[in-house]
Amino acid sequence: MAFWPSVVVATPAHSGVGASLTYRSELSLTPGTLVRVPLGAREVLGVVWECPDEPPEGLTEAQTKAVAGVLEGLPPLNARWRQLVRFAAQYYQRSLGEVALAALPPQLRDLNAVQLARRLKKKEKQQATRAVEPAPEDTTAAGPELSDEQREALQALEAAQAPVLLYGATGSGKTEVYLQATQHVLQAHADAQVLVMVPEINLTPQLEARFRERFEPLFGAGALVCLHSGMTPAQRLNGWLAAHTGQARIVLGTRMAVLASLPGLRLIVVDEEHDPSYKSQEGARYSARDLAVYRAKVETEALAAEGGDPAARCRVVLGSATPSLETWHAAEQGRYLRLAMPARIGGGALPRLRLVDMNNQPKGAVLAPPLVAAMAERIARGEQCMVLLNRRGYAPVLACHDCGWKSACPHCSAFRVFHKLDRTLRCHHCGFTERVPRACPECGNLDIAPIGKGTEQVEEQLAGLLADVKRPDGGPARVARMDADSTRLKGSLEQQLATMHSGEVDVLVGTQMIAKGHDFRRITLVAGINADSGLFASDYRAPERLFALLLQAGGRAGRDAAFVSSQGSQSELWVQTWTPQHPLFAALRQHDFPAFAAQQLAERESAGMPPFGHQALLRADAKTQQAAQAYLNAAAQAADGLPHRDEITLYPAVPLTIQRVANVERAQLLVEAVSRGALQRFLNAWQPVLLECRSLPQARGLVRFAVDVDPLSI
Ligand code: ADP
Ligand code: ZN
Ligand code: ZN
Repeated sequence: MAFWPSVVVATPAHSGVGASLTYRSELSLTPGTLVRVPLGAREVLGVVWECPDEPPEGLTEAQTKAVAGVLEGLPPLNARWRQLVRFAAQYYQRSLGEVALAALPPQLRDLNAVQLARRLKKKEKQQATRAVEPAPEDTTAAGPELSDEQREALQALEAAQAPVLLYGATGSGKTEVYLQATQHVLQAHADAQVLVMVPEINLTPQLEARFRERFEPLFGAGALVCLHSGMTPAQRLNGWLAAHTGQARIVLGTRMAVLASLPGLRLIVVDEEHDPSYKSQEGARYSARDLAVYRAKVETEALAAEGGDPAARCRVVLGSATPSLETWHAAEQGRYLRLAMPARIGGGALPRLRLVDMNNQPKGAVLAPPLVAAMAERIARGEQCMVLLNRRGYAPVLACHDCGWKSACPHCSAFRVFHKLDRTLRCHHCGFTERVPRACPECGNLDIAPIGKGTEQVEEQLAGLLADVKRPDGGPARVARMDADSTRLKGSLEQQLATMHSGEVDVLVGTQMIAKGHDFRRITLVAGINADSGLFASDYRAPERLFALLLQAGGRAGRDAAFVSSQGSQSELWVQTWTPQHPLFAALRQHDFPAFAAQQLAERESAGMPPFGHQALLRADAKTQQAAQAYLNAAAQAADGLPHRDEITLYPAVPLTIQRVANVERAQLLVEAVSRGALQRFLNAWQPVLLECRSLPQARGLVRFAVDVDPLSI
């Protein structure tokens, strides 16, 4: 007897959303089985999607190839996982194979059955030796006693029938709630698994340490695995296998972890759910937060269908002090359950806002004198400060005042950034780097000067301004910098965080990576020094981001209430701005996220913007801007007459803000719809048209196109 499995393989993005290939097999293969199949001259990894015992109509035995091998020993990917992948492919307009295979660890593609069997045996042995360590019967809570707020939130979360928004102030103990919720779930069900997602694992080694410390004694050394793109291929394979086989009880990962195979999934935590890094910016541009919510629903339905405990659910918790407006709106509507934890652990106050009106400061000052004075006082008392600036390098532009030359990148429509430390001009878009010229390349003028400020410059200036300030131990004040440049080398980030935790460093200057998640105990002052760049950006989400960033950054201050009061100090958030009267600051002063969100949502509603309207972008990369736009406009024209076209607004093609990167011209076209359903149905109908339009004469020079559903910036 023969079977005719349909198999999904890593097909190009647009080979059709549901596409799979038909093979032949002597055995009936369970859907979800991993196989190796011939494709052209190669043999590739694939996932069995269905396995009928009759060939699809019109296909003969001679036209199909046999499955080359089955990855024995690996349980099939279950139906819930396949449903998640199918949904993601469909919703984000990519092929099933692309999404399915991208969700598997890359190394799995290179292993043959024998190598895999060896790997699995090794893991089993490790597991067997570990299994003696844990004492799973131990049901005592390993963590601190919860505050009343935390306890109420935890109880409500564990009874929730809907996705939960844990809206907790910075330092209110959200992480502790995740930890105890995790512990309860894992102790209640022997095969339960928990997925904890964070924006960037590397930034917060502290969080991983907290989870390990808590759970390895309870569930063994292999109970927690990480999944993120910074791991080696071997580590990723091991982590994935542990999750897939159920050996790992907890997966701590970045957005990619949302697609991991987790057969026992009972709880998903999305920490800092507002963070833009949950939205993928390449390939299938999925939102890991939105997929997490969908996944919890699928898992819950499956548990209900299995029977057994009728109350069994997979819960999902989205945590933030500054939720995304999408999530906030869902909570307002009652689709999500909002649980608030307004108080900080230890009863500490949230930082007081100090606005510095830059109109009243000495001309050209990067740091206002009162801010520097406030920092000096704190350093002298043994407190730490943090200075936030969203621009690395020394200055964003180098310019000649004689002829007007500027350090433009020859390959991009952007300026190269001046890095003083290694004397380079570097393009942050394409990476093109050159040594800083001695004189103006246009006119030979020796007097070329930086314009604007970056983290290197602020670090340099602060070191000068604080040169005479002494710490309580009599030593000089120390300034350090943390950004993508200073943390490029492996281990350097951990080292820099350590100097901050140990108090070696008094002032940390850095980009937004210093604002996220860290639990520094001695910081009492945080300063945002170029906030206005976020106030007047053209992107309608810019105020939301700025508010979140400043509130999160401020959240690094005064986390240890006992320390702050023993110092007789008060924690402060300083913001330098040219427009202190901006309403965003009024809300920030009151730590009033609800007021800010209400105002933003009202604006969005009247403009029909998300979450009230629904958007997608069609993006095109081409050799010329003209070709990119011509393709987009042709695709828009060809949409006439498609189903649901009348429920859709298609805008004219426009160049991206940075229209050329690495010599590729970029343009986009906005698609708007009143309902998500209409948008989805239209995009499905449009997909084949988009493929056809590639071969139009006016699209010559098109390099690629992509659809971005629910884009984060337009
Ligand atoms: P968040 O995630 O909301 O910013 P954390 O969970 O990191 O807050 O908690 C802030 C600090 O308070 C951490 O140092 C944490 O160890 C501590 N903490 C949290 N909950 C408690 C508690 N119930 N009792 C004592 N300390 C706690
Ligand atoms: Zn010049
Ligand atoms: Zn460039």
